Amino acid sequence: MKKVLLVAFSLSLMISCAQNSKNSNVSSNGYWQQHVDYTMDVDVDVEKFQYKGTQKLVYTNNSPDALTNVYYHLYYNAFQPGSEMDARLQSIADPDGRMITRHGTKEAPIVKSRIAALKPNEIGYLKVNSLKQNGKDVSYEVAGTILEVKLAEPIQPGAKVTFEMNFDGQLPAHIRRSGRNSRDDIAMSMAQWYPKMAEYDFEGWQAHPYIAREFQGVWGNYDVTLRIDKNYTIGGTGNLQNPQEIGHGYEDASKPLNIQEGEKLAWHFKAERVHDFTWAADDEYIHDIYKMENGPDLHFFYKDREVNKANWTKNQALTAKAMEYFSENVGPYPWKQYSVIQAGDGGMEYAMCTFVAGGGKRSNVGTIFHELAHTWFQHILANNESKHSWMDEGFTSYISGLASSKILRGGEGKPSARSYRGYFYVVKEGIEENLTTHADRFDRNTAFSVGSYTKGSMFMTQLNYIIGEENVQKTLKKYYKDFSFKHPVPNDIKRTAEKVSGLQLDWYLNEWTQTLHTIDYGVKSVNGKEITLERIGKMPMPMDVTVTYADGSTEVFNIPLRMMRGNKPTDATVIKDWTWAHPTYSFSVSKDIKKVEIDSSQLMADIDRGNNVFEALNKKIKN
Ligand SMILES: [Zn+2]
Repeated sequence: MKKVLLVAFSLSLMISCAQNSKNSNVSSNGYWQQHVDYTMDVDVDVEKFQYKGTQKLVYTNNSPDALTNVYYHLYYNAFQPGSEMDARLQSIADPDGRMITRHGTKEAPIVKSRIAALKPNEIGYLKVNSLKQNGKDVSYEVAGTILEVKLAEPIQPGAKVTFEMNFDGQLPAHIRRSGRNSRDDIAMSMAQWYPKMAEYDFEGWQAHPYIAREFQGVWGNYDVTLRIDKNYTIGGTGNLQNPQEIGHGYEDASKPLNIQEGEKLAWHFKAERVHDFTWAADDEYIHDIYKMENGPDLHFFYKDREVNKANWTKNQALTAKAMEYFSENVGPYPWKQYSVIQAGDGGMEYAMCTFVAGGGKRSNVGTIFHELAHTWFQHILANNESKHSWMDEGFTSYISGLASSKILRGGEGKPSARSYRGYFYVVKEGIEENLTTHADRFDRNTAFSVGSYTKGSMFMTQLNYIIGEENVQKTLKKYYKDFSFKHPVPNDIKRTAEKVSGLQLDWYLNEWTQTLHTIDYGVKSVNGKEITLERIGKMPMPMDVTVTYADGSTEVFNIPLRMMRGNKPTDATVIKDWTWAHPTYSFSVSKDIKKVEIDSSQLMADIDRGNNVFEALNKKIKN
């Protein structure tokens, strides 16, 4: 290489390095994400369920935009009479049973919002007392659960600013997810408890009011000190930095304890590469640690009650098995610890931990599997839950279903159509809603649940039918590899499956997640050795057709969907492709036909299987 060229080359290198360092999280394909570093110090009054905190937030603007405003979530303001959450609860057709009281008769029920009945000392709140940007006061306004901040100076692309805040909080009576004295009598379930910067991404500000469900957080690091009555044990996100000063089961027994003096202990936690920080506290927690050989330490916190002991002990080795399963089938668990905490009101996933209720008389291990699986599909692969809840709830349901089948039921852990029933029900009832709907704004909770959990998990189950089981396994691993610690979007899982399988899947993402089209194929006729199939539903699919001949032998045919530009790996006889627009398709076989069946695996979500089978003697079976 000549010297002149070298100079030019190194100059261009310097320029491109300078651009990179200015905006280091902008990747070559244009992807960027914001970054937060929180330092919080919080003093807790366990009698009043109140706390006072300071928060230093170093915010890095990796976006290409200058920001003139920022928004914080003040989630606990939702638990006040007259809030949006209260209003929604009073108007939805099928309210969450945990959030209401029922009176009256079966014929004339009186349903009341529990939020509407909260007294001032039972409500939740987050009050911001002061807020500074790089030492200067900024003006802000509270709008329900959102703090709207007008910045003193814009945050330029690539710049870091420091926000300093003083805040007061009150933990509400336990109505949903967080709260005091839960059904299991856990004192403090502290989820969504601090003023939290909303996400700003390629779609703009994600400052969704807290109405019912789903979250989106900014990736970053947390350094949190919690000062609380010394009798309380805390479980939560992060690693405890001062175990010998705290004890409570965290200490290294081989080293001397050096417990802090005074009525309170200052618990110092750090968590890295997370997008939330959650904790729970109780003065009667049992704290067990299950050490995995090739995995993180599993911490279990449960109320010291006789009824809890059997299940909460049994849960520990099973949780370790699930941890191994997800680590092998999706990707390695990236932190040193994971905590299963009896808290909350059902099951809810958080960074490095989960709140699960129950586990007394009835096992809650299935819930633990589900919430643990969310570590991958939300706390490592953080899709926007509000906009695409089918991704986190669906993929979590899919993988935890496989793990449960294998670990809890001794099955093969193969994808199955067992869970399709709920989907067929909402289709039949005509209450299905489009998966592109914001999680808060589905008409009915049922439509949200079936859409996100069932139809979302069917996206994966059915993908086994479309691209083959091995390709789906590889897709999950590649998705983890390419999108860990990012905010993947629906197109990312589709592109991953395309790259793995070599097949085109735009039609699948569109039909399944952006329309209410349904699948219905049928055997239209069999004339001698000629079989005619028909597409009755709007949604196209590739076809697996099993033909049983008069001599008792069988042959499976695969009819690729032309739009896929290929077919899955298969032992079937691959014949000419079928286009979407042609409603029928005919092909001939070499021997006399006894029976024809579309999709014997039943993984294709055909809403009417009555027309999928033809038998020669009975003619076409239809019901
Ligand atoms: Zn879930």
